[in-house]
Amino acid sequence: MDPLSDWFPYPAYRPHQKEMLSAAASVARQGGILMIDAPTGSGKSAVVSALLSEARDRRIVVAVRTKSQLSTFLRELSLIRKKQPDLRYAYLIGKGQMCLLGGSGDVYRRCEGVKALSTSLIRDRAEAGSLVPAKDRVVRQQIRRMDPEKPLICPYFIHGRSFAAEEGEALRMIPSVLLRAKADHVLRESVAPESLPSLAGECCPYEVMLQAARSADVVLLNFHHVLDDAIRQQLYLQLGAEPQEVLLLIDEAHNCGDAMQSIQSVVLAEKDIEAAAHEIQPLRGKVREAEAVLPVLPRIRAFLGMLQGAREVEDWFDPAIFDRAVVQGSLYPSMEAIVDDLLVLSDAVRERSMVTGEFRESAAERLTGFLYRIHQSASDPAFLTLFRREAEEVVLEVKNIDPSAHLSEIASSHAACVMISGTLSPVTSFRRLYFGDLPVTTLMLPNAFPKVNRRLYLARDVSTAYRLRENREVTGRIDGYIRAFCTLPGNLAIYFPSYQILQQYAERSSGHLAGKEAFVEPREAQDAGTALRTFLSLPSRGKAGVLFAVCGGKWSEGLDYRGELLSGAMVVGLPLAPYTRVREMIIQYFRRRFGDEGEFLSYTLPAINRALQALGRVIRTPEDRGLLVLAEQRFLEPGVLAALPPWMQEERVETDLEGFRRGIAGWR
Ligand code: SF4
Repeated sequence: MDPLSDWFPYPAYRPHQKEMLSAAASVARQGGILMIDAPTGSGKSAVVSALLSEARDRRIVVAVRTKSQLSTFLRELSLIRKKQPDLRYAYLIGKGQMCLLGGSGDVYRRCEGVKALSTSLIRDRAEAGSLVPAKDRVVRQQIRRMDPEKPLICPYFIHGRSFAAEEGEALRMIPSVLLRAKADHVLRESVAPESLPSLAGECCPYEVMLQAARSADVVLLNFHHVLDDAIRQQLYLQLGAEPQEVLLLIDEAHNCGDAMQSIQSVVLAEKDIEAAAHEIQPLRGKVREAEAVLPVLPRIRAFLGMLQGAREVEDWFDPAIFDRAVVQGSLYPSMEAIVDDLLVLSDAVRERSMVTGEFRESAAERLTGFLYRIHQSASDPAFLTLFRREAEEVVLEVKNIDPSAHLSEIASSHAACVMISGTLSPVTSFRRLYFGDLPVTTLMLPNAFPKVNRRLYLARDVSTAYRLRENREVTGRIDGYIRAFCTLPGNLAIYFPSYQILQQYAERSSGHLAGKEAFVEPREAQDAGTALRTFLSLPSRGKAGVLFAVCGGKWSEGLDYRGELLSGAMVVGLPLAPYTRVREMIIQYFRRRFGDEGEFLSYTLPAINRALQALGRVIRTPEDRGLLVLAEQRFLEPGVLAALPPWMQEERVETDLEGFRRGIAGWR
């Protein structure tokens, strides 16, 4: 009997799905890394059933990036549970979405702070004989008196704890009966994130899920939980999980590189240095290290001042010069010694802030983190030291440009690692980018949706290449493509390489949208949600609109525009990142690493991915129909064309503007 059929929750496999699940099961059995490029509709989320079929008491961790991915996996797991009623699963999304306590500052720090103070209070009471803190008179009084805007203790945490007193042993803090009952409930029944707070009641929803996760077969986490070393190590410790006993599944893996780079990068602004001085000043005479560190801060400020006059808005600076500017002439022999003292001071600042209910990351901590990272990465070419002029101030950054070392470390440390995405194309290039020469199995599935429901045009007579941006013939033809595209029925989306180009064409298209309402992507995230909701509501009211958006922006990724919500998408231009001196340095680094392929991996591949993401919003189910356009001749260059998914290469209709006008006339 095939073990997979015991776990696969559907009556039949989709085309090529069995092949994908067998590959995942084989990696779970033998260990290793597998990368799967599987277009929408391939049934990717069922990979979790393949891992379960070969789990053999090992835990499965699934990393997801968005709420909709989380819901997809929760749906999948609830279906599997119909076949395997003993299956237990839990999810830990960010504390920001689960925390019930009020107050300001970073939720993780606030939680850490109030938990420390709560623990100290309830332990004192337990030593006085009160083993159930939620019932203790003093604790209850403290909770009642607490300022909800500046909480020092957490009642939700307190309700989840009690103490066990065993003869001859110290008191042990354990999960309360209430917390364990709630966690059991969560493991038995599927509880959606929105219902979790009411189910958790007096307990903390995060703590309920954490308790449940300790005995779950599958734990759903977010990208940060898995990719950030410190968070992952702490979380695995809390779950009692050893990476070599965990099967790791990463969904939407095309985002892994960017997520890892942002986790590894640190930024320091001029205002951070001033704020750090402000925090450290009161420690003079109390903490010995303050006297020595304070004179170092003006040296860092002077270095930033020197960069004020730089011509470039963003550029590289030499970390050795920074090191000399800060260390030479100070009382310190090295940057390491400064970091050591700053660590002591950061702890002191933190303790002082916690007592007053202030749980933000302090500037002293940020400065310590920056100096530590710049010192660590000075000899590591995978990091660049950069400065940027933002408004009136200079910002320094230690930027990670190559995530492969860390991704390789994480993937190899697990029993097996499967990465899946609908846009991991070409999968062999992503393999090089993420894992270099590490042995990795790759799999690419064809598009499973009916061909008749889609048409892809590839324009050979337009481009947004820099040398052609002001060319009137070319810009006029782009206008022509946009206007012709807008005559198609239903909601449509047009994506551009940048806000600047978007603005230019959105303005020129106004009045030529075939009666459709225009929705232009705002720069600020808070305005984007309302506009998008209005746009998506149009078809149900018998209306239609055109979305003008940026590739890689707020309206181009992670959104499911099913059915009538979106009938077509056009990508204008190849959305390459701006070619700056810093970009050139990044490309050079990758050329040194990968030869000629380096430029493609670091520069062209992310642009192709952004375009594919944008076009991928349209056809989400086998019934969806959609017209797709790549309005950029550079997609026809051999290196770029070969990187498009095979179905796109095969089905593309190369066209000029006239051909496009004629061709789409019959598309309904
Ligand atoms: S224990 Fe839960 S409710 Fe309390 S601060 Fe932490 S996350 Fe928030």
